[in-house]
Amino acid sequence: MPLDIVSSVCPHDCPSACALEIERIDGRRIGRVRGAAAQTYTQGVVCAKVARYAERQHHPARLSRPLRRVGEKGVGGAAFVPVSWDEALDEVAERLTRAAQRHGSETVWPYYYAGTMGLVQRDGINRLRHAMRYSREHLSICSMLSDAGWLAGVGAKRGVDGREIAKSDLIVIWGGNPVSTQVNVMTHVAAARKKRGAKLVVVDPYRTATAEVADLHLAPLPGTDGALACAVMHVLFKEGYADRNYMARFTDDPEGLEAHLSPRHPAWAARLTGLSEDEILGFARLYGSIRRSYIRVGYGFSRSRNGAAQLFAVTCLPAVTGAWAHEGGGALYSNLGLVPLDPTLIEGLDRLDPATRILDQSRIGSVLMDDRRDIGDGPPVTALLIQNTNPMVVAPESGLVHRGFARPDLFVCVHEQFMTETAAMADIVLPATTFLEHDDIYPAGAHTYLQIGRAVLPPHAECRSNHDVICGLAERLGARHPGFVISAIELIDRTLQISGLPDVESFPEDGRLDCCPPFETGHFLDGFGHADRKFHFRADWPAIGSEHAQLPPYPDHVAVIDEGDAEQPFRLIAAPSRSFLNTSFNNTPSSIAREGRPTALVHPDVLAGLGLGDGDRIRIGNRRGSVVVCARAFGGLQTRVVIVEGLWPNDAFEEGIGINLLTSADPGLPRGGAVFHDTSVWLSPA
Ligand code: SF4
Repeated sequence: MPLDIVSSVCPHDCPSACALEIERIDGRRIGRVRGAAAQTYTQGVVCAKVARYAERQHHPARLSRPLRRVGEKGVGGAAFVPVSWDEALDEVAERLTRAAQRHGSETVWPYYYAGTMGLVQRDGINRLRHAMRYSREHLSICSMLSDAGWLAGVGAKRGVDGREIAKSDLIVIWGGNPVSTQVNVMTHVAAARKKRGAKLVVVDPYRTATAEVADLHLAPLPGTDGALACAVMHVLFKEGYADRNYMARFTDDPEGLEAHLSPRHPAWAARLTGLSEDEILGFARLYGSIRRSYIRVGYGFSRSRNGAAQLFAVTCLPAVTGAWAHEGGGALYSNLGLVPLDPTLIEGLDRLDPATRILDQSRIGSVLMDDRRDIGDGPPVTALLIQNTNPMVVAPESGLVHRGFARPDLFVCVHEQFMTETAAMADIVLPATTFLEHDDIYPAGAHTYLQIGRAVLPPHAECRSNHDVICGLAERLGARHPGFVISAIELIDRTLQISGLPDVESFPEDGRLDCCPPFETGHFLDGFGHADRKFHFRADWPAIGSEHAQLPPYPDHVAVIDEGDAEQPFRLIAAPSRSFLNTSFNNTPSSIAREGRPTALVHPDVLAGLGLGDGDRIRIGNRRGSVVVCARAFGGLQTRVVIVEGLWPNDAFEEGIGINLLTSADPGLPRGGAVFHDTSVWLSPA
């Protein structure tokens, strides 16, 4: 069979945005997927789930034709009949129009997230939203809390080049598990360890696969990382590790910070975190004694009501030691703010009416249940157009979400690659292309490349891209915008031009433009992102979000988490698994085989106290409901902590609803954000 190698970019919701080399067979199928060796961050490495992408691309359950539901909601494929694209799009347009005529345009809620990170296929739905004055979407579910925390101190959404990890003497992976979720980080960690004898520290509430390979693992209780960071800084000041010259030049208020930290000593933090004073002291001295210290911030510890405050506290560490100024030093959370791409054309921002209401995507359950705290004085949501997400599984407080989708008066159109749980609730389901079948442009969180990925396969069956569907609907709805009448690659080309970047023709032939800033800028030696160009130890929370009253200006432990009580004494973390990515890949055979079944990691003493052993069924519950999973005795966490990795399909659970039945849709501070790792629960034998 003729086989050629073609370039692409991983589109999945992962900061690595790996540059890919794909075996293409006969121009129609793919074989193995590899990382591109020439892209200096990817360095030839991709995760196992994407290496086996053929399983997903050629999965027998790929949607292939537009479908209309004729049976019960939630049944799946058997409840649908095929229709033509014209019939499907006409019906969607008619239903959206009818809903808007009856209730006003804000009754329609286009709903999307990051099933692809490509800007055209992900964000184009906003163009239709703004052109039609549909309800807007508060994109709170992933990075809202962490963005707020990073911006509070650094002031710009960028950090030190991830490739510099290889030049570090100490790497601290805080709140992330890259062995499972961002394998490329480990490539650079391995280089630093091999060439420089660098130490690896992992801060995570459980012994993840990354913690397994670390020199030091600290496992604080969930939601207490801010306390740990404060105690570390207390030691840095007290024991002479603070770089006072650096702080005088590059930070706003080192004296105020030092005074504030004075009572936040290791014994104080030990009480909050469950760590020992010695562990905290040891880590502080290690961090303080090394200038080339690089903190790689993950998303984990931000998924907490106090997540923004915690992340802010962690970003203060390199500002106290001055590590920001050193090659291989500083920190990185995300580089998604690095490249100044102008989103106006893709998202139709020139049509945005600021008077339209904004609904919180994390609170979709409450929104669909007409909670006035969410929908305000506006109309109920009676029509949803959904791309790139599966809220029936991924949104918090699943019980409410399921009740909302079950409303008989709600019209739902889902454009998807598979019959997801959300698609099964739809009236019309449209089959979507994969990244191999459409063009897009991809910025990255973990590195500095802007990458273009072109279609390398024809669309599967009758699948259409998100861009094509949005343009098809726009035509039927009478929406006018230049972005609706050009192709995806033309949109990319014009976006590059208006952003002052090389257009498609001038773009590097391999589709990878390295936008790495010079050292001075990358290390903030020419200033941080705030107007005064300083790193801020005093966060201006009111400028970041309206719910700031409980957030103190200096870094601190902010006690707003779901601590639990006598009835719900345990703390549940719904962590990402290695083989799934949200709900992507949770239907591919090798991913399911590796993950096994929904499983709770529970401390052996706790299991024994419940009269349970390894492999027994355990019920986890709280005031929102309960689920049954298999228990695994696991000593790599504190006794109060329980881990369930996922996200498994709802039907993998005995009672047909997944782990997000237990998680809360309470908004994190100060501007919302989903709090998936901030859940108190009880445990009992099932
Ligand atoms: S590591 Fe992330 S970006 Fe790279 S291939 Fe896997 S999912 Fe895609």
